[in-house]
Amino acid sequence: MKKRLNHTLDPSDWDALRTQGHRMLDDIFDYMQYLRERPVWQPAPQEVRDRFREPLPAKPTDIDAIHQAFMQDVLPYSVGNAHPGFMGWVQGGGTPVGMLAEMLAAGLNANVGGRDQIPLEVERQVLRWVRELFRFPESASGLFVTGTSMANLIGVLVARTSALGTGVRKTGLLADGTRLTAYASAAAHSCVKQAMDLSGLGQDALRSIPFNEHGEIDVAALESAIAADRSKGFKPFLIVGTAGTVDCGAIDNLTILADVAQREDLWFHIDGAYGALAVMAPDVAPRLAGIERADSIAFDFHKWAQVQYDAGFILVRDGQMHYDTFASPAAYLQRETRGLAANSPWPCDFGPDLSRGFRALKTWFAIKAYGVERLGKVISGNCALARYLGDRITTEPMLELLAPISLNIVCFGFRSADADRVNNNIVIALQESGIAAPSTTVINGRLAIRVALFNHRTTVDDVDALLRATLDFGHAETTGTSHKEHE
Ligand SMILES: *Cc1c(COP(=O)(O)O)cnc(C)c1O
Repeated sequence: MKKRLNHTLDPSDWDALRTQGHRMLDDIFDYMQYLRERPVWQPAPQEVRDRFREPLPAKPTDIDAIHQAFMQDVLPYSVGNAHPGFMGWVQGGGTPVGMLAEMLAAGLNANVGGRDQIPLEVERQVLRWVRELFRFPESASGLFVTGTSMANLIGVLVARTSALGTGVRKTGLLADGTRLTAYASAAAHSCVKQAMDLSGLGQDALRSIPFNEHGEIDVAALESAIAADRSKGFKPFLIVGTAGTVDCGAIDNLTILADVAQREDLWFHIDGAYGALAVMAPDVAPRLAGIERADSIAFDFHKWAQVQYDAGFILVRDGQMHYDTFASPAAYLQRETRGLAANSPWPCDFGPDLSRGFRALKTWFAIKAYGVERLGKVISGNCALARYLGDRITTEPMLELLAPISLNIVCFGFRSADADRVNNNIVIALQESGIAAPSTTVINGRLAIRVALFNHRTTVDDVDALLRATLDFGHAETTGTSHKEHE
């Protein structure tokens, strides 16, 4: 009888599972250690895709078989952002330490929405470090979220509460009738526009301000847009500055934006998805001057700080305003001064999520294990590598730089009469070769090969290999010979 009431999912043979677990750990360590020997990316054959069309399993499958399926059909076919040759998009490489921390967090299975538990203290510890990094006051609040897309949305919502008061949470925007407008550079990430949409303010309420030849927001245009809106009866409420644009790595002039926001009495939010954490790199930090004056900063630990996905963060100067934007009373969330309902306020009071994973643990591990200096050196190193690539491009007659190198993103092209088509094909050929994975973007109407150096594993050799292959594929494209002949 008692036995029939036992439905646990734990194994009957823990030792066997332990052995299996060690094998899995070894396999994934091997993956990380010998990553360089693999292609950055390879397209998955149809038969592999087809293996993910099984009917819903009613009966158990042996875990060793599932692990083998993972090794064979999943592991070789990811995007490859952990690989040193991955240069396509703004993505971090992850670290072995972060991987181990993720495993520990999974074992604990903590729900970090609230309650009296030390995992909340770990998250608060990271918040204290973040305040220190950005020189924010102790009253500033912060929260781990999925990524900067969510962090930007939270920034917009707190700014809205600041402009309209907490009443808007109950009545909605229509009841208030105020027509709020926000401002960001045309080079801002598309998720800023999405945040306006999701918050109910609407995409049209975001004014897209032109940027200058360095990719930084045009401040004169910003000021006249604000003035024009005021004269038409709109209520400007928010400026979004970008610290590190996706296209070419530009940093808006944050000090001037802080001045404008102060003078105009607007909320100053910074999308620092990858660039904000460059405050850890002494040679880049001065370019972020003014970031300490923001009302809120959105950024990702999973990009330049190499923490495992996902680990976004929102930091808000006015912790009370942040709390007032999200906190809601509910009987089952009743707070006490003792017992499991103590330790208020909880993370769930600062964002839309109630159940939350323990993102703080891998971040706490990474910051402790590597220290800010070493993490900063990765950032400085990626920027130095970008300058090296820029120098090589300028001395190479067949190549041309298509945008100034601001940080760690290099946009360039292979010279040809039919440059857009040729460069597009070069990028596809590079990706399919497994040598390197850059992406494309459009700069001043021209298609550019875009190299974004975010991976701590990328070296001069990887950049040299990229250049060599780019030239080979470029010549093959323009002379009509096949790639293979040039390998
Ligand atoms: C990556 C990025 C985002 C989006 O962040 P996610 O973590 O992918 O949600 C927003 N803004 C900028 C500048 C980015 O680089």
